[in-house]
Amino acid sequence: MIVYAKISEVTKSLENTTKNEQAIEEQEVRVYESRSVYQKQKRVEEKQRKRKSRRRIMLIISIFVILAGILCGVVLADTMNASHNTVEIASANAQYVKHTMITAVGQVAEKIPWNAFSLLLDKLDNEKQEEKQELNDPSHSDAVDKIENDTGSSSNDLLETPNGIEQTTTESAIIAPKIENPYGIDPSKPMIALTFDDGPSKHTWTIVSALQQHNARATFFLVGNRIANYQAAIDFTLANHNEVASHSFSHANLAKCAEEEILTQIQSVDEALQSQHEYTPTLFRVPYGERNEQVLEFLREQGKPVIGWSVDPRDWDVQDKDKIVKHVLSHVKDGDIVLMHDLYKPTADAVVELIPELQKRGYQLVTVSELFQYKGIPLEPGAYYYATWK
Ligand code: ZN
Repeated sequence: MIVYAKISEVTKSLENTTKNEQAIEEQEVRVYESRSVYQKQKRVEEKQRKRKSRRRIMLIISIFVILAGILCGVVLADTMNASHNTVEIASANAQYVKHTMITAVGQVAEKIPWNAFSLLLDKLDNEKQEEKQELNDPSHSDAVDKIENDTGSSSNDLLETPNGIEQTTTESAIIAPKIENPYGIDPSKPMIALTFDDGPSKHTWTIVSALQQHNARATFFLVGNRIANYQAAIDFTLANHNEVASHSFSHANLAKCAEEEILTQIQSVDEALQSQHEYTPTLFRVPYGERNEQVLEFLREQGKPVIGWSVDPRDWDVQDKDKIVKHVLSHVKDGDIVLMHDLYKPTADAVVELIPELQKRGYQLVTVSELFQYKGIPLEPGAYYYATWK
């Protein structure tokens, strides 16, 4: 019994132990499960957190993309608008260019100096005649050289005829084109003399170039104290067969000068041109147009005809290309002497326009000496000339 009792005690304790163990196991399982659930929960939470995080990132990226899109859209719209404007401007420009081209073509056609062709033909005729005459008269070429090298007074000598002054006009009209007309000037057609005072200056080049391009010449009344500084401009002027004349040494008002000063103002210019360019000017223009009997007497003694003007666009005053052009074109007529100054850019620009326009209107552009020579009017020292008609 005791053994049984003990066995049953042991059995009970064993059972208890087993129960305890089971309880522990169950508890462990629960703990494990609870851990597992926890971990699971944690994983789920982690996943949710990550998902949220991804969503947030996606949201931020989306916002960025949208913002970028809006920005691009704005920029694109702006660019398109700008390019639209550009297209409009380009289109307007194209129309303007087209209009300008059509106008330019019209103007070019208008500005072609058609009479220059006939002048050229005349010149060729004259050259042929000169060649023929040269074959018959060996002294002729010397005569032409003399005209080119010498100045007005020698030209006047050639105009004089044995029969006297009354026949000069008729004789020169017939003889002049053959003997002393190297530029194909037609004495029966209108001609004018453009004159430029107070130079030379840097603008002299523009004016002489324009003259040269159109087979035209002009007269430059230069101021003596500028000669040393513009040697090349003077050479260029002379090389293109223009006439260089005197406008005193320092642009002094000769009517107010003492006798000695008047003489110095006249002679020093001639000396400078002679020593530096081997050229002696014949014509004189008094500064400001101011002169008195004494001044004219000195000029007569120095062998100088005094040249005034008949057309004055007051270029030094207006300093406006269009006004200068307009004034000259509306006032000019056959035999005129036009006064301008080769000191100013508007004047040079005006001359560039005026030369072909005057030629288009039939005017031959000659030097002052040529003008009087072809018109058959001898220039006398100390006499004052405004134009060939005045
Ligand atoms: Zn002057």
